[in-house]
Amino acid sequence: MRGTGCDWRRAWLAAGLLLLACGESGRSAKSVATDDPAAVDPARAVRDSAFADSVLRTAEDIGASITETTSDNAAPARDPVGIRSALLTYAGGSYIDELFAAHDSTNFRWPDRSRDPPRVWIQPSPLEGYTPTHLTIVRDAFDPWVSTGIPVAFEFTEDSTRAEILVTWVARYESRTTGRTRWVRDQYGWITGAGIELALAQPDGRLLDDAALRAIARHEIGHLLGLSHSADEQNIMAARIRVSELSEADRATVRLVYKLPPGSIRTP
Ligand SMILES: [Zn+2]
Repeated sequence: MRGTGCDWRRAWLAAGLLLLACGESGRSAKSVATDDPAAVDPARAVRDSAFADSVLRTAEDIGASITETTSDNAAPARDPVGIRSALLTYAGGSYIDELFAAHDSTNFRWPDRSRDPPRVWIQPSPLEGYTPTHLTIVRDAFDPWVSTGIPVAFEFTEDSTRAEILVTWVARYESRTTGRTRWVRDQYGWITGAGIELALAQPDGRLLDDAALRAIARHEIGHLLGLSHSADEQNIMAARIRVSELSEADRATVRLVYKLPPGSIRTP
């Protein structure tokens, strides 16, 4: 599966996918310094300012589609009392309501894969602007999600044919987009495979710097795990990425997703 980007896209589209495309909104970016308490630190403010220039105009979903495939995965245990209890206990501080509004009250998640982690292949790209640092940044972007305690880990492979998750690069998108995540999910709502596509440059050709790439990769990995967008721009899952770190709400939401079974969370 080391074909061209076009081949890769065709293969994924043939498989049936959820597509989340994250691109810039076109609205002028505001400085984060005014509402960032760290702005009192000049050094941090400078860094944030550079970060803002590269990241704040990056992300807003432009569409989503979900298609189902079938798998041999076991049907999830469905316990309405347990679902209600988990929602009552853990929904506070999360944006699970936004997630279920976006996904018609349906949970999509990976099966428990702590002991058999999904394998990730990150494409070494020949495109201009790509450096080996890009690979390291993307690998490291998985860490803050795994460290939330969800029952999914990841391992990395240099063999794309063994991978369940493919991370590939495009020079840039024509539209205001910097990354896309596609899922394959089965009849129960288990996520069974995924692809992340990341741009090396903004639509105007300016290369994305390391801070921008890190934030975008973390955002796309949130999609990979089953999250949709949050309206709160303090969260890494905001459609327009304004922060580089996971928030408490990001962590609370992904933890709750993995306390629930896949499928409808509507209870009688
Ligand atoms: Zn997104």
